[in-house]
Amino acid sequence: MANLSYLSYLECGWCAEKLESNKLWNLCPKCGKPLLARYDLEEASRAVGPKDLLNREPTLWRYRELLPLQDDAHKVSLGEGFTPLLRARRLETELEHSPIFIKEEGLNPAGSFKARGLSVAVSRALELGAKALSIPSAGNAACALSAYAAAAGLEAHVYLPADVPKPFINECRVLGAQVHLIEGLITDCGKAAREDLEKYGRFDVSTLKEPYRIEGKKTMGYELAEQFNWTLPDVIIYPTGGGTGLVGMWKAFEELEKLGWIGSKRPRMVTVQSEGCAPIVKAFHQGQELAEPWPNASTIADGLRVPAAIGDFLILRALRESRGTAVAVPDSEILQATHVLGKATGIWPAPEGGATLAAFLRLKQSGWVREGEAVVLFNTGNGAKYSRIWDQSS
Ligand SMILES: *Cc1c(COP(=O)(O)O)cnc(C)c1O
Repeated sequence: MANLSYLSYLECGWCAEKLESNKLWNLCPKCGKPLLARYDLEEASRAVGPKDLLNREPTLWRYRELLPLQDDAHKVSLGEGFTPLLRARRLETELEHSPIFIKEEGLNPAGSFKARGLSVAVSRALELGAKALSIPSAGNAACALSAYAAAAGLEAHVYLPADVPKPFINECRVLGAQVHLIEGLITDCGKAAREDLEKYGRFDVSTLKEPYRIEGKKTMGYELAEQFNWTLPDVIIYPTGGGTGLVGMWKAFEELEKLGWIGSKRPRMVTVQSEGCAPIVKAFHQGQELAEPWPNASTIADGLRVPAAIGDFLILRALRESRGTAVAVPDSEILQATHVLGKATGIWPAPEGGATLAAFLRLKQSGWVREGEAVVLFNTGNGAKYSRIWDQSS
C-alpha cells in the first residue's frame, strides 16, 4: 500500500542526537541545533519507484513516502510544488550560454516557495496537536503560514519588520493571521515571537527551528531530478537567507541516491546573497564552519535579509561537499538583473530571483561556469508584492 510515510526518527544535524519523531520538537534538546528527519529509505525504495509517480497529483505531495506526515487526514494542501522548470532560450541567446533553466517558484500558493515548507510543517503540526503557530518573517514566510494556517483552521501569529512592503501585511490580514509589526530586522522579530511563545503556548515554525519545513523544501530537489528525467544539472544557483531550500535539496539528493533513483553525480551548489547581508558568503570564503552575525543587514531582497542563520553549518557543508561556491552581489546588480530576467523570460521575478541571475553573470565572467554546463536559476518568488522596489525602478 503506497501513501504512507517512511519517516523513522529525527536526528540532530550537529550532535547526531536521535529523537522519536511522533512528538512536536523544535531544536535539538541537547545542543540547540536543527533537527533533520530520517527515513527508512531501504523500505521506501521497495514500496515506490519513479514509475509510480507518473499518475500522481502535480504537487509536492507526489513524494508522499518521503514526507513526514503519517495520516492524509491532516494534509494541508493548496496545490504547492511541482512548479515548471522552464528553459530560458532567449536569455541563453542574450547571455551566450546554454542551457539555462529557471525553476519558477513564483507560481506557488501565496506567491513563493515558502509554501512548500509551510504546507508540510503546518500539516505535521496539525497532526501532532499544535493549536497556534508563530513565525518571524521577512514577508513571504508570513504569507505562506497565514495561508496554510487558514486552510488548517489553526491560529497564526506572524512577526514582520515594520518596514515590510504593505502587500505582504495586507495578504496576512486577509488570510486571518494576527500581524505583529516589529521595529528592526527578522532577528528582532524572532526575539519578539519567542517572548510570546511560552506565554501563549504557541508552536514556533521559524526556519529550521522545527524539522519539517525543510522536508517541504527538499521536494525542489526531488522535482529537479524528476524533471531532468532522474539526472541532475551541473550548477544550481540559490538565493540564500536561512538556507532551508539549499540544505533541503542537498538532503534530497542524498535520499534519492540511497533510494536508487539517481546516480552519484551532484550539482555544484551556489549561494547568492546581497553585499548588504552576506554572512554565508563571508564564512564560506574564510573557511569557517559557522557564520558570524552580519551587522546592519540591509538589502532590497527581503528574503536575503537574514543576518544570522541557525542552519549556517548545514549550508556551508552543502556548498563545500558539492564543490560549489558563494557569491555576494550588490543590490544595484540584483535590481538590474530582475529587469533582464523579466524581459527575456516573461517571469516577474522577486529580487531574490534576480540575484541568481546577477550571480550567474559573475560566475560566467570569471569562468567558474563553463559553456554547455546546465545551470538552474531559482526564482523563489513572484515579484508582485515587492511594491517598494518597483516604485523606485520602473
Ligand atoms: C525566504 C526567501 C528566500 C530565502 O530562502 P531560504 O531557503 O530561507 O534561504 C529566498 N527568496 C525568497 C523569495 C524568499 O521568500
